[in-house]
Amino acid sequence: MSNSNMYLEMARAVADDSDRVAIETEDGASLTYGELDREVARTANALLEAGLQPGDRVAAQIHKSVGSLFVYLACLRVGMVYLPLNTAYQTSELDYFLRDAEPGLILVEPEKLDAINAVSSASIGATVMTLAGGTDSDFAKRAAQASAQFDTRLCGASDLAVIIYTSGTTGRSKGAMVTHGNLVSNSQALKQVWQFTRDDVLLHTLPIFHVHGLFVATHCALTSGARILWNNRFNAQSVVRQLENATVFMGVPTYYTRLLGESGLSRESCRQMRLFISGSAPLLAETHSQFEQRTGHRILERYGMSEAGMITSNPYEGERRAGTVGFPLPGVEVRVVDEVDQSLPVGDKGAIQIKGENVFSGYWRMPERTKQEFTADGWFRTGDIGVFDSDGYLSIVGRAKDLIITGGYNVYPKEIELALDELPQVIESAVIGLPHADFGEAVTGVVVLRPGAETDEASIIGTLKSRLAGYKVPKRVYFVDALPRNAMGKVQKNLLREHFG
Ligand code: AMP
Repeated sequence: MSNSNMYLEMARAVADDSDRVAIETEDGASLTYGELDREVARTANALLEAGLQPGDRVAAQIHKSVGSLFVYLACLRVGMVYLPLNTAYQTSELDYFLRDAEPGLILVEPEKLDAINAVSSASIGATVMTLAGGTDSDFAKRAAQASAQFDTRLCGASDLAVIIYTSGTTGRSKGAMVTHGNLVSNSQALKQVWQFTRDDVLLHTLPIFHVHGLFVATHCALTSGARILWNNRFNAQSVVRQLENATVFMGVPTYYTRLLGESGLSRESCRQMRLFISGSAPLLAETHSQFEQRTGHRILERYGMSEAGMITSNPYEGERRAGTVGFPLPGVEVRVVDEVDQSLPVGDKGAIQIKGENVFSGYWRMPERTKQEFTADGWFRTGDIGVFDSDGYLSIVGRAKDLIITGGYNVYPKEIELALDELPQVIESAVIGLPHADFGEAVTGVVVLRPGAETDEASIIGTLKSRLAGYKVPKRVYFVDALPRNAMGKVQKNLLREHFG
C-alpha cells in the first residue's frame, strides 16, 4: 500500500531543503520546515504517551497558535483523528460534541479546564489537558520533553483524518468525517489551480477550527514549501501592513470589507501580492469591484464546505467573475439537478450535487443521515442551490433550507437580496421567511443602509415592486446597523428569524 498520509504531502515538498522558513509569527519568531517537523514529531510522541492509539479522536478547543497547528499536524502524522472545536462554543454546546465524538483526549485553554471536567470527562472517560499559546501548559510541557523523531504512520486514503462539526443552523450538528485521501486530493488540486510555489508567502489570519484556515490555507502553503506569515487573529490594520511582505491572502468576505475600511490599502501596499482569495460566504459584487479599484487585484472567489473541502474556483488565469464561484476543481464533478436528481439545462436553478475524491466519507455515527445525503449513484447533496451559465461558471443562489415558500411560490432569498443590494441606499441585506397567517411564509427583508441614506420601508418596497414579481417583494423591510455573522462571515439568518419572527 502506498502511504496516503496527508502529512507526507507536506514533508515531501521540502525533503531537499528543510532549512527553508515555514512559519513566521507576529513577534518576529520563525520556524524552519525542519524545526516544524521536529515539533510535530514531539507532539505526535506526546499524544502516544498520553495513552492514545491511532484512530482515537483528539478534541481541541484552543485559541489559534502555532502550538495548535502542531497538534493538528501531529494527529495526521500519528493517524489520530483531529476534532477542531470553535472557541466560541459554550460548555453546554461542547458537551454534545464530546459525547458524540468520544475523544480520548481533550485539549483546552487553562480557563476552560474546570468547566470541561465538570461536564464531559467523567462520562466519556477522556483525558483532559491544557494547551495554551505559550509553553507552560500541561500538554506543551509533555511535548517539549518528548522525542523529536517520529516515523509517519502508514495511512490508506480512506483512513479518517479529521471530524469537523457542521455549523448546523437547523437540527443537530453533524460530524463530517474527512479522510486523508480527501485532504490529499483537495490540496493537490488547489496547489495546481492557484499555482502555489515555494516562492509564495501566505498571510494566514483565518481561524483554524474550520476548513478554510485549517485545510485550504495551511495545506496550500505547507505542501508547496511556501512561507506562512502566521497571525493568531485577523486585524485589518495589521494585515494591510503585512501585505507588503506577502504574495497570497485568503479571507472570508467580512475580512475584505474591513480591509476596504483601511486607508493604507492601495496598489502600493499590494505590490508584492499575486492572489487574494475569498470564500465561506458570498462576496458582494460591490466588494469585488471596490477592491479592484483600490488595489488593482480581482479577488478570486471559490466555493467549498466542511463535507467536501473545496469544490469550485474562479480561474487563476482567465476571467474571475464577481457573483460566481467559478468552475469545478480538477477531479471534482458538479451537477445541478431537479427534485428527482436529474441534471438541469444550463441556466436553470437547482440543487448542487458533487462527486470526487474530495467528498467526505459520511457523518460520524449517523449512517441513516449519511445515506439520505447521497444519491443512489453516489452524488453528495450539498444543500446549496446553484446555476451554471453558458460559459460554465457556477453561481450559488441559496441554500435549499433557506428557500422561502410564500403562497405556494418558491422564492430564493438570494435573488431578492441582490435586488435590495442594487439600491443605491443599501449596503447589504438578508432576506428571510417569517410565519404568515395567509401566505404560510412572508418574504421579509433586513437591510443595512449606507450612512446618511434617506429612504424608508415603503419606498424600498415600492421600488422592488417595479423590478420583481409581486410574490417575491418583501412584505416588510426592517433596518439594522449590521447583519449578525459568525466567525466565517456567514449571515446567521436563524438569529434574524428569532428576532423579527
Ligand atoms: P461550511 O461547511 O461551514 O464551510 O459551510 C459551507 C457552506 O458555505 C456551503 O454549503 C455554502 O452554502 C457556503 N459557501 C461557501 N463558500 C461560498 C461562496 N463562495 N459563496 C456562497 N456560499 C458559500
